[in-house]
Amino acid sequence: MTEYTAMLKEAYGLRDEVISLYEKISETIKEDFIETEEIAEYNQLKVLKAFSDNKVSTAHFISSNGYGYDDMGRETLDKVYAQVFGCEDAMVRHNIVSGTHALSLCMFGILRPGDTVIAVSGKPYDTLEEAIGIRGNGNKGSLKDFGVNYKQVDLKDGGIDYEGIKNTVTKGTKMVMIQKSKGYDWRPSLTNADIEKICKTVKEIDPNIICMVDNCYGEFTEKTEPVQHGADIMAGSLIKNAGGGIAQTGGYIAGREDLVELISYKLNSVGLGKECGATLGLNREFFLGFFMAPHIVCQAIKTAIFAARIFSEAGYEVNPLPGEKRTDIIQAVKLNSPEKLIGFCQGVQAASPVDSYAAPMPYAMPGYADEVIMAAGAFTQGASIEISADGPLREPYTAYLQGGLTFESGKVAVLKALNNI
Ligand SMILES: *Cc1c(COP(=O)(O)O)cnc(C)c1O
Repeated sequence: MTEYTAMLKEAYGLRDEVISLYEKISETIKEDFIETEEIAEYNQLKVLKAFSDNKVSTAHFISSNGYGYDDMGRETLDKVYAQVFGCEDAMVRHNIVSGTHALSLCMFGILRPGDTVIAVSGKPYDTLEEAIGIRGNGNKGSLKDFGVNYKQVDLKDGGIDYEGIKNTVTKGTKMVMIQKSKGYDWRPSLTNADIEKICKTVKEIDPNIICMVDNCYGEFTEKTEPVQHGADIMAGSLIKNAGGGIAQTGGYIAGREDLVELISYKLNSVGLGKECGATLGLNREFFLGFFMAPHIVCQAIKTAIFAARIFSEAGYEVNPLPGEKRTDIIQAVKLNSPEKLIGFCQGVQAASPVDSYAAPMPYAMPGYADEVIMAAGAFTQGASIEISADGPLREPYTAYLQGGLTFESGKVAVLKALNNI
């Protein structure tokens, strides 16, 4: 036992078998990190170059109030995001309150009564169901309530059903929705190459169909982003990857300029769009967070790889596998019992920097159909770029682990989770 493992054992009460599993995988884990480190290096360069090309300066960190007209920081931040994500335009705002809000804005900004939207990567993320109107009574302003039709192409053998897409998407379909990350699903997360193939399939049916990507958890996991692969618009949350662990709230939308404009009319008012919105002193942290994001995403992916390695070594089914290509920061671990799911989440919580003394319990969360347990000892409430774990209380009791601002701290949470089950 090294000085470090002795301290681990002592500080977090780890059992000998957990320590010896740790020692066993420590020898090879560095090789698993090579690819993600290389991606982070590349993406950091892209971000640095965009800051430089757009002449980011301390003047951009100044706060605006009132209408927020001519906020140079806000306008420059939009340009930096657009450049890094390879898009015509972007809109980064603190008053986009979450990923769900960002995605909702895309749908409500673009879709009109009588239009059809088709989810082509299976059921969308749980929190979007009520917005679409496929859960709840749908009469409180869901897409359905506004006369927007919804269809879904389910996954086939855990992958995209291209034949199903060809049979469901028709000329005149307004939008298809693609979710890059697996979310609460046991399927591979999509690569940008997959997204490119989907977009190509859809555009062959009708080039006017708008391809929208739910990019939550996907940013900076590859060297490019979905809009560079044929998607028209994408959205995500700043308390996940793009905020780099620094942003305390917010979301972004990025893609075709005409679509960003329509969406900005939904967030603000028709006619106002991107031209207003006070930034209340948040520009600095949004710039800093975006600057940090490639590195922080890499830390989170290392934590996920480490979890995959040690849990599979301990005999659990994991997704993705330790050496598999990653296109989001989520690590799923199949635990097969509610007690283990609860124990896992409590372990992550106990090794978090904030609220480590709290024990999370299953809970009915707004927007989710099943009870959910969530461990989040985070500096920012609910920030899942920070080490966190959650899972719906349903078969087969899969824990979804994500985040880790530093690998050095994230791995302690993983070890404590394993120790608890
Ligand atoms: C987190 C997430 C969302 C929803 O974002 P919130 O910020 O939790 O509202 C949507 N889709 C995916 C794939 C996500 O991971």
